[in-house]
Amino acid sequence: MANPLYDALFAALQQRSGPLLLLADGSQISGAAFHADIARFAHALRQLGVRPGDRVAVQIAKSPAALAVYAATVSIGAVFLPLNTAYTAAELAYFIGNATPRVFLCDPAHAAALATIATDHDAQLLTLGAKGEGNLPDLATQHSPSFTPTDCAPDDLAAILYTSGTTGRSKGAMLSHRNLLSNAESLAQLWRFTANDTLLHALPIFHTHGLFVASNVSLLSGAQMIFLPGFDAETTLRLLPKATVLMGVPTFYTRLLDSPGLAQAARHMRLFISGSAPLLAETHTAFQSQTGHRILERYGMTETNMNTSNPYDGDRRAGTVGLPLPGVDIRITAQGAEVAQGEVGMIEVRGPNVFAGYWQMPEKTAEELTPDGWFLTGDLATRDADGYISIVGRAKDLIITGGYNVYPKELELLLDDVPGVLESAVIGLPHPDFGEAVFAVLTPRKGARLDPAAVLAAIAPSLARFKHPKAAVVVADLPRNTMGKVQKNLLRAEYADWFQ
Ligand code: ATP
Ligand code: MG
Repeated sequence: MANPLYDALFAALQQRSGPLLLLADGSQISGAAFHADIARFAHALRQLGVRPGDRVAVQIAKSPAALAVYAATVSIGAVFLPLNTAYTAAELAYFIGNATPRVFLCDPAHAAALATIATDHDAQLLTLGAKGEGNLPDLATQHSPSFTPTDCAPDDLAAILYTSGTTGRSKGAMLSHRNLLSNAESLAQLWRFTANDTLLHALPIFHTHGLFVASNVSLLSGAQMIFLPGFDAETTLRLLPKATVLMGVPTFYTRLLDSPGLAQAARHMRLFISGSAPLLAETHTAFQSQTGHRILERYGMTETNMNTSNPYDGDRRAGTVGLPLPGVDIRITAQGAEVAQGEVGMIEVRGPNVFAGYWQMPEKTAEELTPDGWFLTGDLATRDADGYISIVGRAKDLIITGGYNVYPKELELLLDDVPGVLESAVIGLPHPDFGEAVFAVLTPRKGARLDPAAVLAAIAPSLARFKHPKAAVVVADLPRNTMGKVQKNLLRAEYADWFQ
Protein backbone atom coordinates (compact mmCIF):
# COMPACT_ATOMS: atom_id res chain seq x y z
CA MET A 1 0.00 0.00 0.00
CA ALA A 2 1.03 3.56 -0.40
CA ASN A 3 0.59 7.21 0.34
CA PRO A 4 1.44 8.95 -2.95
CA LEU A 5 2.66 12.28 -1.57
CA TYR A 6 4.45 10.81 1.43
CA ASP A 7 6.23 8.26 -0.75
CA ALA A 8 7.36 10.81 -3.35
CA LEU A 9 8.13 13.86 -1.21
CA PHE A 10 8.93 12.83 2.35
CA ALA A 11 9.91 9.16 2.65
CA ALA A 12 13.50 9.64 1.44
CA LEU A 13 14.15 12.35 4.04
CA GLN A 14 14.49 9.69 6.72
CA GLN A 15 17.87 8.63 5.24
CA ARG A 16 19.06 12.13 4.42
CA SER A 17 21.69 13.25 6.88
CA GLY A 18 22.51 16.35 4.80
CA PRO A 19 20.61 19.61 5.11
CA LEU A 20 17.07 20.08 3.84
CA LEU A 21 16.37 23.56 5.20
CA LEU A 22 18.87 26.39 5.54
CA LEU A 23 17.64 29.19 7.79
CA ALA A 24 18.34 32.91 7.74
CA ASP A 25 20.43 32.75 10.93
CA GLY A 26 22.81 30.26 9.32
CA SER A 27 21.43 27.16 11.10
CA GLN A 28 20.33 24.05 9.20
CA ILE A 29 17.78 21.26 9.54
CA SER A 30 18.73 17.91 8.08
CA GLY A 31 16.35 15.74 6.11
CA ALA A 32 16.39 13.13 8.88
CA ALA A 33 15.63 15.69 11.63
CA PHE A 34 12.78 17.07 9.54
CA HIS A 35 11.45 13.55 8.99
CA ALA A 36 11.50 12.94 12.75
CA ASP A 37 9.40 16.11 13.19
CA ILE A 38 6.93 14.84 10.59
CA ALA A 39 6.62 11.59 12.56
CA ARG A 40 6.09 13.35 15.89
CA PHE A 41 3.48 15.71 14.46
CA ALA A 42 1.76 12.75 12.74
CA HIS A 43 1.47 10.92 16.08
CA ALA A 44 0.22 14.08 17.82
CA LEU A 45 -2.45 14.71 15.18
CA ARG A 46 -3.62 11.09 15.37
CA GLN A 47 -3.76 11.39 19.15
CA LEU A 48 -6.00 14.44 18.73
CA GLY A 49 -8.41 12.27 16.77
CA VAL A 50 -7.51 13.39 13.24
CA ARG A 51 -8.69 10.65 10.86
CA PRO A 52 -8.18 10.25 7.11
CA GLY A 53 -10.26 12.88 5.28
CA ASP A 54 -10.41 15.21 8.31
CA ARG A 55 -9.30 18.78 7.75
CA VAL A 56 -6.40 20.28 9.67
CA ALA A 57 -6.77 24.05 9.31
CA VAL A 58 -3.76 26.20 10.08
CA GLN A 59 -3.17 29.91 10.36
CA ILE A 60 0.44 29.99 11.44
CA ALA A 61 3.66 31.78 10.64
CA LYS A 62 5.91 30.23 8.02
CA SER A 63 8.50 28.06 9.78
CA PRO A 64 10.15 24.66 9.42
CA ALA A 65 7.62 23.27 11.93
CA ALA A 66 4.74 24.63 9.84
CA LEU A 67 6.09 22.79 6.81
CA ALA A 68 6.41 19.63 8.90
CA VAL A 69 2.75 19.94 9.95
CA TYR A 70 1.80 20.04 6.24
CA ALA A 71 3.86 16.89 5.66
CA ALA A 72 2.43 15.14 8.74
CA THR A 73 -1.14 15.95 7.75
CA VAL A 74 -0.93 14.47 4.26
CA SER A 75 1.10 11.53 5.57
CA ILE A 76 -1.78 10.47 7.84
CA GLY A 77 -4.31 10.81 5.00
CA ALA A 78 -5.82 14.01 6.38
CA VAL A 79 -6.43 17.23 4.46
CA PHE A 80 -4.13 20.21 4.96
CA LEU A 81 -5.95 23.52 4.93
CA PRO A 82 -3.68 26.54 5.24
CA LEU A 83 -5.14 30.01 5.75
CA ASN A 84 -3.64 33.35 4.89
CA THR A 85 -1.88 34.79 7.95
CA ALA A 86 -3.41 38.20 7.19
CA TYR A 87 -6.99 37.01 7.77
CA THR A 88 -8.73 38.61 10.74
CA ALA A 89 -10.87 36.74 13.27
CA ALA A 90 -14.02 37.81 11.40
CA GLU A 91 -12.65 36.36 8.15
CA LEU A 92 -11.49 33.19 9.89
CA ALA A 93 -15.01 32.55 11.17
CA TYR A 94 -16.12 32.07 7.55
CA PHE A 95 -13.24 29.73 6.69
CA ILE A 96 -13.49 27.62 9.83
CA GLY A 97 -17.28 27.42 9.48
CA ASN A 98 -16.91 26.40 5.85
CA ALA A 99 -14.07 23.92 6.36
CA THR A 100 -15.20 22.36 9.70
CA PRO A 101 -11.70 21.14 10.57
CA ARG A 102 -10.99 18.60 13.33
CA VAL A 103 -8.00 20.68 14.41
CA PHE A 104 -7.46 24.42 14.02
CA LEU A 105 -3.84 25.39 14.58
CA CYS A 106 -3.09 29.05 15.26
CA ASP A 107 -0.38 31.30 16.62
CA PRO A 108 -0.18 31.21 20.47
CA ALA A 109 -0.74 34.98 20.50
CA HIS A 110 -4.11 34.58 18.74
CA ALA A 111 -5.44 31.59 20.67
CA ALA A 112 -7.57 33.58 23.12
CA ALA A 113 -9.21 35.61 20.34
CA LEU A 114 -9.95 32.52 18.23
CA ALA A 115 -11.23 30.22 20.99
CA THR A 116 -14.91 30.95 20.34
CA ILE A 117 -14.61 30.36 16.61
CA ALA A 118 -13.04 26.97 17.27
CA THR A 119 -15.68 26.00 19.85
CA ASP A 120 -18.53 27.18 17.62
CA HIS A 121 -17.41 24.80 14.90
CA ASP A 122 -16.29 21.86 17.03
CA ALA A 123 -12.64 22.28 16.13
CA GLN A 124 -9.87 21.61 18.64
CA LEU A 125 -7.73 24.73 18.92
CA LEU A 126 -3.98 24.14 19.14
CA THR A 127 -1.03 26.47 18.83
CA LEU A 128 2.24 26.70 16.94
CA GLY A 129 4.32 29.89 16.88
CA ALA A 130 6.95 31.25 14.52
CA LYS A 131 9.80 29.86 16.64
CA GLY A 132 8.27 26.40 16.85
CA GLU A 133 6.67 27.01 20.27
CA GLY A 134 3.11 26.06 21.25
CA ASN A 135 1.02 23.20 22.61
CA LEU A 136 1.07 21.14 19.40
CA PRO A 137 4.89 20.87 19.41
CA ASP A 138 4.71 20.21 23.18
CA LEU A 139 2.44 17.27 22.46
CA ALA A 140 4.59 16.14 19.54
CA THR A 141 7.84 15.96 21.55
CA GLN A 142 6.31 13.18 23.66
CA HIS A 143 6.05 10.96 20.61
CA SER A 144 8.34 8.64 18.67
CA PRO A 145 10.44 10.01 15.79
CA SER A 146 9.29 7.24 13.48
CA PHE A 147 5.83 6.34 12.22
CA THR A 148 3.90 4.47 9.58
CA PRO A 149 2.08 6.71 7.11
CA THR A 150 -1.59 6.06 6.33
CA ASP A 151 -2.42 4.38 3.03
CA CYS A 152 -4.41 6.45 0.63
CA ALA A 153 -5.44 6.49 -3.02
CA PRO A 154 -4.25 8.98 -5.62
CA ASP A 155 -7.70 10.59 -5.74
CA ASP A 156 -7.92 11.10 -1.98
CA LEU A 157 -7.73 14.73 -0.92
CA ALA A 158 -4.40 16.04 0.32
CA ALA A 159 -5.29 19.70 0.70
CA ILE A 160 -7.98 22.30 0.47
CA LEU A 161 -6.58 25.65 -0.53
CA TYR A 162 -8.68 28.76 -0.63
CA THR A 163 -8.28 30.96 -3.70
CA SER A 164 -6.77 34.39 -3.14
CA GLY A 165 -10.11 36.20 -3.23
CA THR A 166 -8.99 38.62 -5.94
CA THR A 167 -12.32 38.55 -7.75
CA GLY A 168 -14.69 37.83 -4.87
CA ARG A 169 -15.11 35.53 -1.90
CA SER A 170 -12.38 32.87 -1.63
CA LYS A 171 -13.37 29.35 -2.63
CA GLY A 172 -11.85 26.16 -1.20
CA ALA A 173 -10.23 24.14 -3.99
CA MET A 174 -10.11 20.40 -3.22
CA LEU A 175 -6.74 19.01 -4.32
CA SER A 176 -5.88 15.33 -4.44
CA HIS A 177 -2.56 13.54 -4.05
CA ARG A 178 -2.62 12.98 -7.82
CA ASN A 179 -3.24 16.67 -8.55
CA LEU A 180 -0.26 17.78 -6.48
CA LEU A 181 2.16 15.01 -7.36
CA SER A 182 1.57 15.06 -11.12
CA ASN A 183 2.23 18.80 -11.18
CA ALA A 184 5.37 18.61 -9.02
CA GLU A 185 6.72 15.88 -11.31
CA SER A 186 6.08 17.92 -14.47
CA LEU A 187 7.62 21.08 -13.05
CA ALA A 188 10.67 19.39 -11.54
CA GLN A 189 11.45 17.82 -14.91
CA LEU A 190 10.69 20.90 -16.98
CA TRP A 191 12.76 23.22 -14.80
CA ARG A 192 15.57 20.61 -14.43
CA PHE A 193 15.50 20.43 -10.64
CA THR A 194 18.05 18.08 -9.06
CA ALA A 195 19.48 17.30 -5.64
CA ASN A 196 22.18 19.87 -6.45
CA ASP A 197 19.70 22.72 -6.37
CA THR A 198 19.07 25.14 -3.54
CA LEU A 199 15.84 27.07 -3.82
CA LEU A 200 15.61 30.44 -2.12
CA HIS A 201 12.12 30.12 -0.60
CA ALA A 202 10.75 33.50 0.47
CA LEU A 203 7.08 32.93 -0.47
CA PRO A 204 4.27 32.31 2.01
CA ILE A 205 3.29 28.66 2.46
CA PHE A 206 -0.46 29.22 2.70
CA HIS A 207 -0.66 29.67 -1.07
CA THR A 208 -0.17 27.27 -3.99
CA HIS A 209 2.98 29.09 -5.15
CA GLY A 210 5.03 28.68 -1.97
CA LEU A 211 3.47 25.47 -0.68
CA PHE A 212 3.19 23.37 -3.80
CA VAL A 213 5.24 24.88 -6.61
CA ALA A 214 8.20 25.82 -4.44
CA SER A 215 8.17 23.23 -1.63
CA ASN A 216 6.84 20.16 -3.45
CA VAL A 217 9.16 20.60 -6.44
CA SER A 218 12.18 20.98 -4.13
CA LEU A 219 11.19 18.02 -1.93
CA LEU A 220 10.53 15.79 -4.92
CA SER A 221 13.97 16.58 -6.38
CA GLY A 222 15.92 16.17 -3.17
CA ALA A 223 16.91 19.84 -3.39
CA GLN A 224 17.64 22.12 -0.43
CA MET A 225 15.63 25.19 0.50
CA ILE A 226 16.80 28.43 2.05
CA PHE A 227 13.64 28.79 4.06
CA LEU A 228 12.90 32.42 4.91
CA PRO A 229 9.93 33.73 6.91
CA GLY A 230 9.14 36.25 4.18
CA PHE A 231 10.64 38.34 1.40
CA ASP A 232 12.86 41.34 1.76
CA ALA A 233 15.28 42.40 -0.93
CA GLU A 234 18.27 42.81 1.38
CA THR A 235 18.13 39.29 2.89
CA THR A 236 17.43 37.81 -0.52
CA LEU A 237 20.49 39.48 -2.02
CA ARG A 238 22.62 38.40 0.94
CA LEU A 239 21.59 34.74 0.58
CA LEU A 240 21.27 34.50 -3.20
CA PRO A 241 24.93 33.45 -3.58
CA LYS A 242 24.03 30.24 -1.65
CA ALA A 243 21.05 29.50 -3.93
CA THR A 244 20.64 28.19 -7.47
CA VAL A 245 16.95 29.01 -8.06
CA LEU A 246 14.61 31.79 -6.95
CA MET A 247 10.83 31.60 -7.28
CA GLY A 248 8.94 34.82 -6.82
CA VAL A 249 5.93 36.95 -7.53
CA PRO A 250 6.62 39.91 -9.85
CA THR A 251 7.07 42.33 -6.93
CA PHE A 252 10.12 40.32 -5.80
CA TYR A 253 11.73 41.16 -9.12
CA THR A 254 10.78 44.84 -9.18
CA ARG A 255 12.15 45.23 -5.63
CA LEU A 256 15.37 43.38 -6.50
CA LEU A 257 15.83 45.62 -9.52
CA ASP A 258 15.72 48.65 -7.21
CA SER A 259 18.42 47.20 -4.92
CA PRO A 260 22.15 47.68 -5.35
CA GLY A 261 24.22 44.52 -5.78
CA LEU A 262 21.72 42.49 -7.78
CA ALA A 263 24.01 41.72 -10.71
CA GLN A 264 26.77 40.42 -8.46
CA ALA A 265 24.42 38.33 -6.28
CA ALA A 266 22.72 36.77 -9.31
CA ARG A 267 25.86 35.86 -11.26
CA HIS A 268 26.05 32.15 -10.51
CA MET A 269 22.26 31.52 -10.39
CA ARG A 270 20.71 28.78 -12.52
CA LEU A 271 17.12 30.00 -12.77
CA PHE A 272 14.70 32.78 -11.83
CA ILE A 273 10.99 31.92 -12.00
CA SER A 274 8.01 34.27 -11.74
CA GLY A 275 4.28 33.72 -11.39
CA SER A 276 1.01 34.40 -9.51
CA ALA A 277 0.54 37.74 -11.26
CA PRO A 278 1.60 39.20 -14.61
CA LEU A 279 5.29 40.03 -14.95
CA LEU A 280 5.62 43.19 -17.01
CA ALA A 281 7.70 42.75 -20.16
CA GLU A 282 9.59 45.85 -18.98
CA THR A 283 10.61 44.07 -15.73
CA HIS A 284 11.71 41.03 -17.73
CA THR A 285 13.88 43.19 -20.00
CA ALA A 286 15.34 45.26 -17.17
CA PHE A 287 16.21 42.08 -15.23
CA GLN A 288 17.96 40.64 -18.25
CA SER A 289 19.98 43.76 -18.86
CA GLN A 290 21.08 43.99 -15.20
CA THR A 291 21.79 40.29 -14.60
CA GLY A 292 21.93 38.50 -17.95
CA HIS A 293 19.14 36.17 -16.74
CA ARG A 294 15.86 35.76 -18.59
CA ILE A 295 13.15 35.27 -15.94
CA LEU A 296 11.06 32.19 -16.67
CA GLU A 297 7.36 33.06 -16.32
CA ARG A 298 4.74 30.42 -15.67
CA TYR A 299 0.98 30.50 -15.09
CA GLY A 300 -1.26 28.64 -12.72
CA MET A 301 -3.88 28.97 -10.04
CA THR A 302 -5.11 27.43 -6.82
CA GLU A 303 -7.56 25.14 -8.61
CA THR A 304 -5.10 23.63 -11.08
CA ASN A 305 -1.58 24.12 -9.81
CA MET A 306 0.52 25.15 -12.80
CA ASN A 307 -0.78 25.03 -16.36
CA THR A 308 1.81 26.65 -18.60
CA SER A 309 5.45 27.55 -18.45
CA ASN A 310 8.00 29.21 -20.62
CA PRO A 311 10.60 26.68 -21.76
CA TYR A 312 13.83 26.03 -19.89
CA ASP A 313 15.98 25.74 -23.00
CA GLY A 314 13.90 27.43 -25.67
CA ASP A 315 12.79 31.03 -26.01
CA ARG A 316 11.50 32.58 -22.77
CA ARG A 317 9.20 35.21 -24.20
CA ALA A 318 8.57 38.32 -22.14
CA GLY A 319 4.88 39.08 -21.67
CA THR A 320 3.83 35.46 -22.30
CA VAL A 321 3.24 32.57 -19.92
CA GLY A 322 4.69 30.06 -22.36
CA LEU A 323 3.35 26.69 -23.43
CA PRO A 324 1.04 24.09 -21.83
CA LEU A 325 2.84 21.74 -19.40
CA PRO A 326 3.27 18.14 -20.61
CA GLY A 327 0.03 16.24 -19.91
CA VAL A 328 -2.02 19.43 -19.49
CA ASP A 329 -4.57 20.23 -22.23
CA ILE A 330 -5.38 23.85 -22.85
CA ARG A 331 -8.00 25.32 -25.13
CA ILE A 332 -8.99 28.92 -25.61
CA THR A 333 -12.70 29.38 -26.22
CA ALA A 334 -15.42 31.94 -26.76
CA GLN A 335 -19.13 31.09 -26.93
CA GLY A 336 -18.29 27.42 -26.53
CA ALA A 337 -15.95 27.13 -29.53
CA GLU A 338 -12.18 27.37 -29.82
CA VAL A 339 -11.09 30.78 -31.09
CA ALA A 340 -8.77 31.31 -34.04
CA GLN A 341 -5.07 31.85 -33.44
CA GLY A 342 -4.44 35.33 -32.04
CA GLU A 343 -8.06 35.86 -30.97
CA VAL A 344 -9.00 36.45 -27.34
CA GLY A 345 -10.89 33.71 -25.50
CA MET A 346 -11.10 32.07 -22.09
CA ILE A 347 -8.46 29.56 -21.03
CA GLU A 348 -9.88 26.11 -20.27
CA VAL A 349 -7.66 23.47 -18.68
CA ARG A 350 -7.90 19.69 -18.43
CA GLY A 351 -5.38 17.29 -16.95
CA PRO A 352 -4.27 15.37 -13.86
CA ASN A 353 -3.55 18.72 -12.20
CA VAL A 354 -7.18 19.92 -12.26
CA PHE A 355 -8.89 19.96 -8.85
CA ALA A 356 -11.86 17.87 -7.77
CA GLY A 357 -14.21 20.82 -7.20
CA TYR A 358 -14.90 23.57 -4.67
CA TRP A 359 -15.40 22.43 -1.09
CA GLN A 360 -19.08 22.67 -0.14
CA MET A 361 -19.94 24.69 -3.26
CA PRO A 362 -21.56 22.28 -5.74
CA GLU A 363 -23.17 25.07 -7.83
CA LYS A 364 -19.90 26.94 -8.22
CA THR A 365 -18.17 23.67 -9.12
CA ALA A 366 -20.82 22.89 -11.75
CA GLU A 367 -20.41 26.38 -13.25
CA GLU A 368 -16.65 26.14 -13.63
CA LEU A 369 -15.88 22.44 -14.11
CA THR A 370 -17.48 20.68 -17.10
CA PRO A 371 -18.57 17.01 -16.84
CA ASP A 372 -15.72 16.03 -19.20
CA GLY A 373 -13.10 17.59 -16.96
CA TRP A 374 -12.46 21.07 -18.41
CA PHE A 375 -11.95 23.84 -15.86
CA LEU A 376 -13.06 27.30 -17.00
CA THR A 377 -10.31 29.43 -15.55
CA GLY A 378 -11.87 32.87 -15.93
CA ASP A 379 -8.63 34.09 -17.51
CA LEU A 380 -8.67 35.58 -21.02
CA ALA A 381 -5.75 34.91 -23.34
CA THR A 382 -4.47 34.59 -26.88
CA ARG A 383 -2.23 31.93 -28.41
CA ASP A 384 0.34 32.76 -31.09
CA ALA A 385 1.53 30.69 -34.06
CA ASP A 386 4.19 28.98 -31.91
CA GLY A 387 1.69 28.04 -29.20
CA TYR A 388 2.81 30.67 -26.67
CA ILE A 389 -0.03 31.89 -24.49
CA SER A 390 -0.41 35.52 -23.43
CA ILE A 391 -2.83 36.43 -20.67
CA VAL A 392 -4.96 39.43 -21.50
CA GLY A 393 -6.73 39.68 -18.15
CA ARG A 394 -9.57 38.17 -16.21
CA ALA A 395 -13.03 37.73 -17.73
CA LYS A 396 -14.45 39.51 -14.67
CA ASP A 397 -12.27 42.54 -15.43
CA LEU A 398 -13.29 42.74 -19.10
CA ILE A 399 -15.03 46.05 -19.74
CA ILE A 400 -18.02 46.20 -22.08
CA THR A 401 -18.67 49.81 -22.95
CA GLY A 402 -21.42 50.72 -25.41
CA GLY A 403 -21.34 47.10 -26.57
CA TYR A 404 -17.58 47.07 -27.29
CA ASN A 405 -15.03 44.91 -25.44
CA VAL A 406 -12.12 46.70 -23.83
CA TYR A 407 -9.27 44.66 -22.35
CA PRO A 408 -7.79 46.61 -19.43
CA LYS A 409 -4.28 45.28 -19.96
CA GLU A 410 -3.96 46.92 -23.37
CA LEU A 411 -4.60 50.32 -21.78
CA GLU A 412 -2.52 49.60 -18.69
CA LEU A 413 0.54 48.84 -20.82
CA LEU A 414 0.17 52.21 -22.58
CA LEU A 415 -0.50 54.11 -19.35
CA ASP A 416 2.52 52.57 -17.63
CA ASP A 417 4.69 53.95 -20.44
CA VAL A 418 3.58 57.55 -19.89
CA PRO A 419 6.37 59.48 -18.14
CA GLY A 420 5.65 59.85 -14.43
CA VAL A 421 3.26 56.87 -14.26
CA LEU A 422 4.49 54.04 -12.05
CA GLU A 423 1.54 51.69 -12.57
CA SER A 424 -2.11 51.72 -13.44
CA ALA A 425 -5.32 49.76 -13.12
CA VAL A 426 -8.08 50.15 -15.69
CA ILE A 427 -11.60 49.18 -14.64
CA GLY A 428 -15.17 49.45 -15.88
CA LEU A 429 -17.61 51.51 -13.83
CA PRO A 430 -21.40 51.64 -14.17
CA HIS A 431 -22.40 54.40 -16.61
CA PRO A 432 -25.94 55.52 -17.50
CA ASP A 433 -25.34 55.70 -21.28
CA PHE A 434 -22.58 53.18 -21.96
CA GLY A 435 -23.46 50.43 -19.48
CA GLU A 436 -19.86 50.56 -18.32
CA ALA A 437 -17.33 53.34 -18.78
CA VAL A 438 -13.57 52.91 -18.88
CA PHE A 439 -11.84 54.37 -15.81
CA ALA A 440 -8.13 54.54 -14.99
CA VAL A 441 -6.50 54.51 -11.57
CA LEU A 442 -2.90 55.77 -11.72
CA THR A 443 0.01 55.78 -9.30
CA PRO A 444 2.90 58.24 -9.73
CA ARG A 445 6.59 57.45 -9.87
CA LYS A 446 8.59 58.76 -6.92
CA GLY A 447 8.62 62.56 -7.02
CA ALA A 448 6.38 62.81 -10.12
CA ARG A 449 3.22 64.94 -10.16
CA LEU A 450 0.57 63.48 -12.40
CA ASP A 451 -2.19 65.37 -14.16
CA PRO A 452 -4.85 62.72 -14.96
CA ALA A 453 -6.15 64.62 -18.00
CA ALA A 454 -2.65 64.95 -19.46
CA VAL A 455 -1.97 61.24 -18.97
CA LEU A 456 -5.20 60.33 -20.76
CA ALA A 457 -4.37 62.75 -23.57
CA ALA A 458 -0.97 61.08 -23.96
CA ILE A 459 -2.44 57.64 -24.68
CA ALA A 460 -5.45 58.81 -26.73
CA PRO A 461 -3.70 58.82 -30.15
CA SER A 462 -2.85 55.09 -29.78
CA LEU A 463 -6.39 53.95 -29.04
CA ALA A 464 -9.75 53.67 -30.79
CA ARG A 465 -12.14 56.23 -29.37
CA PHE A 466 -14.37 53.70 -27.56
CA LYS A 467 -11.35 52.56 -25.52
CA HIS A 468 -10.51 56.02 -24.19
CA PRO A 469 -10.89 56.18 -20.39
CA LYS A 470 -13.65 58.65 -19.55
CA ALA A 471 -11.85 59.67 -16.36
CA ALA A 472 -8.77 58.93 -14.27
CA VAL A 473 -7.67 59.41 -10.69
CA VAL A 474 -4.24 59.43 -9.07
CA VAL A 475 -3.69 57.41 -5.88
CA ALA A 476 -0.59 56.63 -3.82
CA ASP A 477 -0.87 52.82 -4.14
CA LEU A 478 -3.09 50.25 -5.82
CA PRO A 479 -4.86 47.91 -3.40
CA ARG A 480 -3.14 44.51 -3.46
CA ASN A 481 -3.79 41.28 -1.63
CA THR A 482 -0.97 39.43 0.11
CA MET A 483 -0.01 37.68 -3.14
CA GLY A 484 0.64 41.07 -4.74
CA LYS A 485 -2.44 40.96 -6.94
CA VAL A 486 -4.29 44.17 -7.69
CA GLN A 487 -7.79 43.94 -6.23
CA LYS A 488 -9.90 45.51 -8.91
CA ASN A 489 -13.11 44.54 -7.13
CA LEU A 490 -12.13 46.98 -4.37
CA LEU A 491 -11.43 49.73 -6.90
CA ARG A 492 -14.75 49.09 -8.65
CA ALA A 493 -16.55 49.36 -5.31
CA GLU A 494 -14.69 52.50 -4.30
CA TYR A 495 -15.43 54.40 -7.51
CA ALA A 496 -18.82 52.78 -8.27
CA ASP A 497 -20.72 56.11 -8.21
CA TRP A 498 -18.28 58.12 -10.29
CA PHE A 499 -20.49 58.30 -13.40
CA GLN A 500 -23.87 57.94 -11.71
P1 ATP B 1 -9.99 34.31 -6.75
O1 ATP B 1 -10.10 33.10 -7.61
O2 ATP B 1 -10.44 34.06 -5.35
O3 ATP B 1 -10.59 35.54 -7.33
P2 ATP B 1 -7.21 34.40 -7.58
O4 ATP B 1 -7.73 33.89 -8.87
O5 ATP B 1 -6.31 35.59 -7.62
O6 ATP B 1 -8.42 34.68 -6.57
P3 ATP B 1 -5.19 32.40 -7.23
O7 ATP B 1 -5.64 31.03 -7.48
O8 ATP B 1 -4.18 32.65 -6.17
O9 ATP B 1 -6.46 33.25 -6.81
O10 ATP B 1 -4.61 33.06 -8.53
C1 ATP B 1 -4.76 32.52 -9.81
C2 ATP B 1 -4.83 33.63 -10.83
O11 ATP B 1 -3.63 34.39 -10.83
C3 ATP B 1 -4.97 33.12 -12.24
O12 ATP B 1 -6.30 32.76 -12.54
C4 ATP B 1 -4.47 34.32 -13.03
O13 ATP B 1 -5.51 35.29 -13.20
C5 ATP B 1 -3.39 34.91 -12.13
N1 ATP B 1 -2.03 34.51 -12.58
C6 ATP B 1 -1.24 33.53 -12.12
N2 ATP B 1 -0.07 33.48 -12.78
C7 ATP B 1 -0.12 34.49 -13.68
C8 ATP B 1 0.77 34.99 -14.67
N3 ATP B 1 1.99 34.46 -14.84
N4 ATP B 1 0.35 36.03 -15.43
C9 ATP B 1 -0.87 36.58 -15.26
N5 ATP B 1 -1.74 36.17 -14.35
C10 ATP B 1 -1.38 35.14 -13.56
MG1 MG C 1 -9.21 32.52 -9.31
